[in-house]
Amino acid sequence: MTKVFTKESKTLTKENKNFPLFNELADKKHEQVVICSDPETGLRAIIAIHNTTLGPALGGTRMWNYESEEAAMKDVLRLSRGMTYKSAISGLNLGGGKAVIIGDPHTEKTEALFRSFGRFVDGLGGRYITAEDVGMTEKEMEWIYSETKYVTGIPKALGGSGNPSPVTAYGVYMGVKACAKKAYGSDSLEGKKIALQGAGNVASYFARHAAKEGAELFICDIYGDKANELAKEVGAEVVDPDSIYGLDVDIFTPCALGGVINDDTLDQFKCDIIAGGANNVLDVEDKHGEMLLEKGIIYAPDYVINAGGIINIASELEGYNEERALQNAGNIYTTITDILNYSEEHGIPAHKASNALAEKRIETIGNIKNKYSSKANVSGRLGEVYKRFID
Ligand code: NAD
Repeated sequence: MTKVFTKESKTLTKENKNFPLFNELADKKHEQVVICSDPETGLRAIIAIHNTTLGPALGGTRMWNYESEEAAMKDVLRLSRGMTYKSAISGLNLGGGKAVIIGDPHTEKTEALFRSFGRFVDGLGGRYITAEDVGMTEKEMEWIYSETKYVTGIPKALGGSGNPSPVTAYGVYMGVKACAKKAYGSDSLEGKKIALQGAGNVASYFARHAAKEGAELFICDIYGDKANELAKEVGAEVVDPDSIYGLDVDIFTPCALGGVINDDTLDQFKCDIIAGGANNVLDVEDKHGEMLLEKGIIYAPDYVINAGGIINIASELEGYNEERALQNAGNIYTTITDILNYSEEHGIPAHKASNALAEKRIETIGNIKNKYSSKANVSGRLGEVYKRFID
């Protein structure tokens, strides 16, 4: 059982009162948090490694203008944990990690800042492998790659898989169809009204798939130009970002930021299904997951439906093949179907059903790893001791 530091702890009592970081880490079982500071380049970043049972912690770097350091820390802890579950449920041999860079992605990007960040990633020696996330583009990933090999989702020109968004969006599209099948008995999106939050990378590719199938789309973005451009391309209607939750639609597809299913928004939803690409959409996971179940809204757990990105990246580690990556992302349809069925059979919210299945895999594989194998990597002095048994 995890020991949680309490006020009664013999050590750290004073620190706990002012800065309960170790409580936070112990509570959700994070392994490591790295604070990266480089005033010369303006770099302020946090790398969080949640769990490495299945393999190195892999997860994107997000650049965002956080309103406080606490908000950035909260975000990176949530996101890194999500990556552990995502890799596990997707059958990948990867652990969970994430990084955030505090800053305005529109005005504060410099080569030096990202190369400095790359050096911090390199210092972790492969415990954390980074990739692209909100606020980042291939250009910044290339700068990071100049300083460390622990990068995935690098540009195609450099031998990588490039932007993962098309594969992520395809997985989201297939996941939405699986939900439609559960709700309506048919997975066709023809004539279905979909409220799409965000008009960025994932939202754009998703909108094209859905529009092609005849869905009626309502799109918003805090940058109005982006929403207008996408709406024009796919023949959608632009709506105000504040009104997106209460629209009279069949499906709500969040493709912006996390925490959008919360106390304020839950009563507004009129949809049958919530399924989209954004990470950590449930503000308070258990509370709001339960509330969705009570309201009878079918929910596709975020980290399952948006796993196309990590599936794409994992393909890169083995030698990238886009066709295979898309095919694997298409399997999200089956994973979501299984989770929704499990959720129904056990009368539990969908996020709990998928959490249970993911945790089961981590535990099972973790136990296998407990057995000694001479082929397995043994580090430090013990590695030297056992070396003579290794071919
Ligand atoms: P992006 O930066 O390209 O797009 C996000 C968009 O959301 C931006 O256009 C932004 O202006 C908009 N936005 C932010 N807050 C908003 C709000 N309150 N209302 C409306 N619009 C808002 O990012 P992306 O790569 O498309 O990722 C979107 C989401 O999907 C994120 O949560 C990300 O973590 C998740 N995700 C992305 C990938 C991927 O492959 N890119 C993979 C897995 C998960």
